[in-house]
Amino acid sequence: MSAPSVENVVIIGTGCAGLTAAIYTGRANLSPLVLEGPLPGGQLTTTSEVENFPGFAHGVDGFQLMQNLREQATRFGTRFEQALVDRVDFTSHPRQLFAGDRVILARAVIIATGASPRMTGIPGEKELYGGKGVTTCATCDGAFYRKMDVAVIGGGDSAAEEALFLTRFASRVYLVHRRETLRASKIMADRVTRHEKITCVWDSLPVAVEGVAEGAVSGLRVRNVKSGTEQVLPVKGIFVAIGHLPNTGPFAPPLDLDEQGYFKPASGSAVRTHIPGVYVAGDCADHVYRQAITAAGMGCAAAIEAERWLAGHGD
Ligand code: NAP
Repeated sequence: MSAPSVENVVIIGTGCAGLTAAIYTGRANLSPLVLEGPLPGGQLTTTSEVENFPGFAHGVDGFQLMQNLREQATRFGTRFEQALVDRVDFTSHPRQLFAGDRVILARAVIIATGASPRMTGIPGEKELYGGKGVTTCATCDGAFYRKMDVAVIGGGDSAAEEALFLTRFASRVYLVHRRETLRASKIMADRVTRHEKITCVWDSLPVAVEGVAEGAVSGLRVRNVKSGTEQVLPVKGIFVAIGHLPNTGPFAPPLDLDEQGYFKPASGSAVRTHIPGVYVAGDCADHVYRQAITAAGMGCAAAIEAERWLAGHGD
């Protein structure tokens, strides 16, 4: 078998950060190879309307935005391949990425692997996940719950967005939050608390998903953290929206992680790592801002860094 060819730059991930890095390295004539993981297009493909991405005065559909970025990257010579990197060796040049039996060689690497939905871990959640009533994506699954009652777990912008989206279909949306104030931005929080179809269940933690024996969700048991009383919300769908976990496992070590598992860039830079020619971008390296536009900005910065590094050390 012939040895794999050496890529100029391999970008891991197809979210906002990865595709922006592809546009920039593509326009620099580096012919980037983008490795596509389990969620092509990243988190925005599971969002409905994106209202805060600059340049779209009337908002843009998340899926459409990612399609546009992909087309733009393709136009400048980006190649896409499916591969789930499970291990790396950054001790030699070129850098080595392993995806099962496959080895990919790269002079420069940009890791933009994003973050995956966090789950509550309560009984019944795993058993009834996917098609049986527990999900993490209202955009994907909301339409299955027409004229039914559903619950959203969480109090951040994701939970608020999911709850508002679900009002298009569901009869009632219970928003279950462990405190009595939402973490979501004020504009989203106001929309949620004012919506006639949304009932906020404050100070409440989910305890169990009911319906395991029947193979379908029949309710969500919640406990009020102040009074200790429990109740079962009579819902057929449960949307978990309690944040995300960064997809950094295959790269650490050798890369450094912070205490929450996000990449810790080298000091003085948001995207450089302690390994020359290896960069990080987007939600896998940012637990502060976590916005589509900041991820895109990091993708741009990582691409410029990679381009400059290759100009001096690429051979
Ligand atoms: P987040 O802001 O981290 O919120 C997570 C929510 O889940 C919090 O309310 C948290 O409660 C709750 N939670 C965490 N663990 C829990 C558990 N085990 N059981 C019950 N509840 C739990 O995450 P996010 O909403 O996904 O947002 C992430 C970032 O993306 C944020 O910066 C957000 O602004 C941004 N975002 C923006 C938009 C938009 O602008 N359109 C949309 C979505 C997300 P506590 O509040 O008590 O900690």
